[in-house]
Amino acid sequence: MFEKILIANRGEIALRIQRACRELGIRTVAVHSEPDRDLMHVKLADESVCIGPAPSDQSYLNVPAVIAAAEVTDAEAIHPGYGFLSENADFAERVENSGFAFIGPRAETIRLMGDKIAAKTAMKKAGVPCVPGSDGPLPDDNEALKKLAKDIGYPVILKAAGGGGGRGMRVVHTEAHLINAANLTRAEAGKAFGNPTLYMEKFLETPRHIEFQVLCDAHGHCVHLGERDCSVQRRHQKVIEEAPAPGISAKQRAEIGAAVVKACTDMGYRGAGTIEFLYDPASQTFYFIEMNTRVQVEHPVTEMITGVDIVKAQILIAAGKALPLRQEDIQFHGHAIECRINAEDPERFTPSPGQITAWHAPGGPGIRVDSHIYAGYRVPPYYDSMIGKIISHGNDREEAQMRMRSALRETSIEGIQTNILLHRRILEEAQYAAGEINIHYLEALLSL
Ligand code: ADP
Repeated sequence: MFEKILIANRGEIALRIQRACRELGIRTVAVHSEPDRDLMHVKLADESVCIGPAPSDQSYLNVPAVIAAAEVTDAEAIHPGYGFLSENADFAERVENSGFAFIGPRAETIRLMGDKIAAKTAMKKAGVPCVPGSDGPLPDDNEALKKLAKDIGYPVILKAAGGGGGRGMRVVHTEAHLINAANLTRAEAGKAFGNPTLYMEKFLETPRHIEFQVLCDAHGHCVHLGERDCSVQRRHQKVIEEAPAPGISAKQRAEIGAAVVKACTDMGYRGAGTIEFLYDPASQTFYFIEMNTRVQVEHPVTEMITGVDIVKAQILIAAGKALPLRQEDIQFHGHAIECRINAEDPERFTPSPGQITAWHAPGGPGIRVDSHIYAGYRVPPYYDSMIGKIISHGNDREEAQMRMRSALRETSIEGIQTNILLHRRILEEAQYAAGEINIHYLEALLSL
């Protein structure tokens, strides 16, 4: 087992990883930017190293600085968390070539899944259902492109093979707009991702976002931990997630679960991963869109209903341990909901950094808070505005909702603005309560 792990991240996920290390008796090294020296996990770490100034590209994305910090502290493994370097195949490769364990998949797997065309091809081959579309890069020839779109059927969506973070996509409703849209999206993708390659998919009008969690050890054994519904989104950013997904039957779960396990086994996947789908409620069909090769922000809802500690599992897998779980050992208990708490103006959604003058965390049965904030902590303006997550668990969706409503009423954060009022509004709303949500639900609610 590792004796010391370097945590290459900040905020709540750094603290989450540190907690997993503590439970496993592993010492931790925190790396941080200059303004982040007062982060909770930095104070609690066995050792800490400042790796650069505030801008991420000079600190949390600074590969040589992160690796040097692991060298000077004699860490044996690096946990990248989510965001930052977590899905950077070159980083994973540098980490392993420098003699450290990367707590995540092999670099080749990260690279394969980072190319969305290659990812789709691999999933399709394993029998995972994909959104109908171009089976590969778009042709340069305009007539061929028009024929392709016509065959798929409008509306279609053009997507960048190297895209991510909800960028590099354009919806096209009629042939008249196709060529211009393709040229624009190519140019944008080239600039943003250094890769102008596009592919095309049928645009699904009112899908839900449902994703499956997998865990695979380095010995070819893989299980799934069921699904999460992450349809409550604003500008492709998830706001509320839950597990299980309302209305998904045990049969559907077992079917898609088996398909994703097969796909991960086929590609020799290692670690925790998430296979994202769009789900069409009318036809009850799942369509693969992409795989995330890291721990997700919303992993706690799965932990609450399965009792499996995903971050501890990631560490044990990286250390070469065999996963002690068989698929039939994984049972689902009750329902869990997660609200992402952001330091932002609840109406205009602009960031609201600054000092937290008072903080009262919610509690009681079935409530979990994953957050690094404390009274006196100053939320810096340089990074993502998420300052924590409130997670509720109940015997059913109704109880999980009641507990979340109560938790949101108890929570008090002073000194900065947060989106807690928005969460209270959604949790009081009839359509949400009924589980009638799709990826446009929140934006429609906000435009009322
Ligand atoms: P990214 O890696 O940028 O997050 P995804 O492929 O995961 O890109 O897509 C992000 C979001 O874009 C989805 O959650 C969904 O809202 C929308 N989207 C992507 N593909 C389609 C599609 N074929 N039909 C409808 N919406 C889509």
